[in-house]
Amino acid sequence: MTTKHLKHTAAIAALSLLSVWSASAKPLEILTSFYPMYVSALNVVGDTPGVAVACLTEPFVGCLHDYQLTPGDMKILVKADIFVANGAGMEAFLGKALKQAPSLKLVDASEGIPLAFEGNPHIWVSISGAIGQVKNIARGLAVADPAHAEQYQKNAAAYVAKLEALRGEMHAALDGIKNRDIMTFHEAFPYFSREFQLNIVGVVEREPGSEPNAKELAGTIESVKKRNVRALFAEPQYPAKSARVIERETGVRLSILDPVVTGPRDPAQARDFYLVAMRKNLDVLRRALSE
Ligand SMILES: [Zn+2]
Repeated sequence: MTTKHLKHTAAIAALSLLSVWSASAKPLEILTSFYPMYVSALNVVGDTPGVAVACLTEPFVGCLHDYQLTPGDMKILVKADIFVANGAGMEAFLGKALKQAPSLKLVDASEGIPLAFEGNPHIWVSISGAIGQVKNIARGLAVADPAHAEQYQKNAAAYVAKLEALRGEMHAALDGIKNRDIMTFHEAFPYFSREFQLNIVGVVEREPGSEPNAKELAGTIESVKKRNVRALFAEPQYPAKSARVIERETGVRLSILDPVVTGPRDPAQARDFYLVAMRKNLDVLRRALSE
């Protein structure tokens, strides 16, 4: 055998090794921006072989308002194949990310979903919004990865059926409640409240981390008293210092409503976490509003 032949054989061996390696060891990498997208994508992907779902941000980060990409995030982004984003302005960094990772395929979970509350990206907090996003993710993944299109659509349909059952359960429990005035923190709940016809009479803290000043707090306390608001909802993700003040001053009961922006990372637990958290929200609402 000549040297040339040897080189050729070695090259073929290396090539076939490479293809075996890429087929078995390098899964299709679906990266999601934050927790609600992670949960939805996990359900759409299910146990599709050779496809991995990851979350760019830690499961305790919460909403991505004003989130800035770190150099570490950029490294993860360029390695991924598909990026599932909430869209609707939640990921302000999206343009920059796509510019620096030009081969990344974007799936925008909010595509075509009308924003009933302009500038408010918390679509998944209503169950109908979550259903729309799951369908969008399935459609987007099917386009980006046609080999598994059928699997994605089948998994999405099964998850959507669970979400629809949950929505029905929540309507059955909440539709008859007379007292529908609630007060919340952070702008996460308009879509949810519209779905179940709750009246948000006040939002204490518009952005996480910006506590209201003394005058705003006094105004809120005044309106809680005037409107006889019975339920004030904080979120597990944010410190509720001012909520405690309002509770103390007015006697309104402080409860926790979860917009499901944080949760366990373990896929086996994360997969059902939206359903679990929403059922907990239902219990909390029923208790807070029905007495
Ligand atoms: Zn938010």
